Amino acid sequence: MPAQPDAYGDALDRARAHSLKWLASVPTRPVGPMATADMLAAGFASNLPEGPTDAATVIDQLAKLAEPGLMAMPSGRFFGWVIGGTLPAALAADWMLSAWDQNAAMRYATPATAAAEDAAGVWLLDLLGLPAGSGVGFTTGATMANFVGVAVGRKAVLDRVGWDVHADGLTGAPHITVLAGEERHASVDLALRYLGLGLPRVVAADSQGRIRMDALAAALSATTGPVILCLQAGNLHSGAFDPMREAIALAHGHGAWVHVDGAFGLWAAVSPLYAKQLEGLDTADSWATDAHKTLNVPYDCGVAIVANVDMLRSSFGVHTTYLVQDARGPADPFEKVPEMSRRARGVPVWAALSSLGRSGTVALVERLAAHARSLADGLSQLPGVEVLNDVVFTQVCLSFGTDERTRQVTQALIDEGTVWMSGSHWQGRDILRISVSNWSTDADDVAQSIAAVERAAQAVV
Ligand SMILES: *Cc1c(COP(=O)(O)O)cnc(C)c1O
Repeated sequence: MPAQPDAYGDALDRARAHSLKWLASVPTRPVGPMATADMLAAGFASNLPEGPTDAATVIDQLAKLAEPGLMAMPSGRFFGWVIGGTLPAALAADWMLSAWDQNAAMRYATPATAAAEDAAGVWLLDLLGLPAGSGVGFTTGATMANFVGVAVGRKAVLDRVGWDVHADGLTGAPHITVLAGEERHASVDLALRYLGLGLPRVVAADSQGRIRMDALAAALSATTGPVILCLQAGNLHSGAFDPMREAIALAHGHGAWVHVDGAFGLWAAVSPLYAKQLEGLDTADSWATDAHKTLNVPYDCGVAIVANVDMLRSSFGVHTTYLVQDARGPADPFEKVPEMSRRARGVPVWAALSSLGRSGTVALVERLAAHARSLADGLSQLPGVEVLNDVVFTQVCLSFGTDERTRQVTQALIDEGTVWMSGSHWQGRDILRISVSNWSTDADDVAQSIAAVERAAQAVV
């Protein structure tokens, strides 16, 4: 049954209506989902229909089945993990991108998305203060952006000792030592695993989770052969930043490749108030960040940046007869990421940055950090509440006394549903963790959230 053009209209109208209803419900519904995946499974997993169903009906069914199991992640009172919301321009651009259905691998085939992604890349380098002319690839997230940066580093450090990893692989190659801080994000370990580099050699961190310079110096001195150093801009718990200029200079002195995981923290670089903490960031070799966190574009969108675009291109590009490419022209989008067929993830980034402008982007980042500060200030006034980290960016860690009480308050808070904050374990203690990452969070959300934590703490004696 070939789809009629009208079938799109009906289905998209239904999708628009359901989407607007969902978005309207977000500010008032409980933040947590009302059903578990197991509870919803029966609805979704009923028998595969024997024959076709019209598209609009499918969309109605999908909305009904999903509704109780949706988490209000776009809520201004969602502070779990590190999760952004969605700016209106980014969401609408993302819809249109699906309608366009471009396989955005090549400039020649999909010039509109290639040009938009190029522009988004240039804007990002400008805003983040990274070297103009760096290669920018739009990945699924920061995990794959870390993968990209370290993959190019792997090639570079082995080239320097005369080993061509693309031709000869890793078997029999000189050993690469990867150094990473004790409090690196787990996705760095995943990237290393995918790249056949094993676990990193761990460098001790200080009380805020920053890599310790004395420990880094000792680790570098004890190493011979190729080295990759993975730094962190924005600790998941404290928000703290590794000392960029010193660490990068020291590692470069040992011939290392330096990659920075800045999934959310790289965005501190856009604000004069916070950029000081990242001084020297631009001297690294590669960087990873997310657009789906701080920039608030829809899932999924990460950004891989490599200062030397030719090295990026040589790591991810490939030449075949059936792809139409210009080897002398600018890099094709697929030459900067692991995927070949790809969604033009950079287009919602272009839309988000267009809608915010330079001042709006700075204001977004500063607002998130200011709300984190207000939450920390307000919560620290409550009896028995301790803020455990130096609040330097968007992250706040709380204790309610004993680990057990902290866990109970966390559970009481999540059960009540006004806000969502996640439990975690940091520096030897159970904690309640806050990450302010949603563009729509306002002063009223902050006040409501402090009141909700107060109620949860009072409910647990
Ligand atoms: C979220 C995060 C990642 C992983 O990013 P994904 O987008 O989930 O792949 C890596 N590092 C840090 C510091 C993060 O916060």
